[in-house]
Amino acid sequence: MANEVPSLDQFLDGLAARNPGEIEFQQAVCEVAADVLPFIQDKPKYQEWQIMRRIAEPDRIVIFRVTWRDDKGNIRVNRGYRVQNSNAIGPYKGGLRFHPSVNLSILKFLAFEQTFKNSLTGLAMGGGKGGSDFNPKGKSDNEVMQFCQSFMTELCRHIGPSIDVPAGDIGVGAREIGYMFGQYKRLTNTFQGVLTGKGIEYGGSLARGEATGYGTVYFLEDMLKAKKDEIKGKSVVISGSGNVAIYAAEKIIHLGGKPITLSDSGGFIHDKDGIDQEKLEWLKDLKFTRRGRIEEYAEVFGAHYHKGKSPWQVECDIALPCATQNEISEADAQALIKNGCKAVSEGANMPTVLAGIKVFRDAKILYAPSKAANAGGVAVSGLEMRQNSALTSWTQDEVNVLLRDIMTNIHDRCTDYGSDSDGHIDYVRGANIGGFVKVADAMLAFGVV
Ligand code: NDP
Repeated sequence: MANEVPSLDQFLDGLAARNPGEIEFQQAVCEVAADVLPFIQDKPKYQEWQIMRRIAEPDRIVIFRVTWRDDKGNIRVNRGYRVQNSNAIGPYKGGLRFHPSVNLSILKFLAFEQTFKNSLTGLAMGGGKGGSDFNPKGKSDNEVMQFCQSFMTELCRHIGPSIDVPAGDIGVGAREIGYMFGQYKRLTNTFQGVLTGKGIEYGGSLARGEATGYGTVYFLEDMLKAKKDEIKGKSVVISGSGNVAIYAAEKIIHLGGKPITLSDSGGFIHDKDGIDQEKLEWLKDLKFTRRGRIEEYAEVFGAHYHKGKSPWQVECDIALPCATQNEISEADAQALIKNGCKAVSEGANMPTVLAGIKVFRDAKILYAPSKAANAGGVAVSGLEMRQNSALTSWTQDEVNVLLRDIMTNIHDRCTDYGSDSDGHIDYVRGANIGGFVKVADAMLAFGVV
């Protein structure tokens, strides 16, 4: 065997040459490789079989045109994608994102991250991600339906319950999943669990909506518990006001903490009295039913609205970034530490830039990277697949107990690989190596494929 472990710089140079301009993808791979390459230094099997190089090359990428007609009769054209990164340990699994910022680099980073995250859940799921540059914001229900049907008309050739099972992500919620499932069913004349995040009436799982936000807070709870601390009484800064942010806030309230901010792409609200369950119910209606802006919260409840700003300068004990990638800059991370933040649990995918991660790691705060902290959503998607294949459905409590357990198992796995001699737990290293090993061992079993 001739292959030697490259240095991190050599590996990243090769990666950049093969994926020019794909900065988010390079960032995600760099973060993982910085932990995995030293880990495999004395493990020839992983080096010789080029496992890291292979995981960082998607199995397959499908790019397609999505043509649809808007309410005025205009023909509109968007671009659709599905990145199937790895099916080493199960069918490809990962969400669909509809947002104007979507491009190949973003979906490749998300599919790569998903591969490690899904491995950490302990369930049999490979990694994938997809979506489109379509912007559902401001579109009528009919326009969203026209788009979703056209998108699925092409995507259906590439997915299936044992091939690839997409779910929601930014811009893809219950409405979009419903339209896409309906079109898949119509085109294939089958009723099968080809998407997760489905409505309860047609094969969805109870607690899937809550799972990512709740899971992010369960992971936080486990990190604090390991330090003999708790969420009760802590003030919590949260970004975003979508599916993940709202349910993260709800679980913080359940556990006696005080969420004090939420945001959207227009700005953030700061409620010094705390967002309680009653205010949160109002927010659910605002965001999930009326599709309104967070600014309205400030008017109704007398909170401060900071237009065009993110909430990281606000004093807090805990920060939960739940909006989007790279939303915490190096300066934001420094401000959080300076203002007393002791724990960060990432609900969004890769919300912290690499320099910001370094700030958190150097400060040795409790820092849970997204691939561990937000794995609860895909874990419950995995449970939805199980319920679909057994033609059964479990109660909210049954699913929630399993979710709670899975998050603790992920925490334990991170502890196994991330514990330092001084007792500190480096959750970034723990998640990267903990996610890598299972996928890598499966790949070794397959030989050169
Ligand atoms: P939603 O579409 O429900 O909500 C996204 C929220 O983030 C909205 O408040 C949105 O504001 C805000 N946001 C999005 N893009 C930006 C931006 N560029 N700048 C500022 N704010 C922005 O998405 P989810 O809650 O489902 O997803 C949020 C994050 O969690 C994403 O990173 C996603 O990948 C991740 N995630 C989601 C999972 C899930 O189960 N849904 C599972 C695991 C991870 P606005 O409405 O103004 O755009």
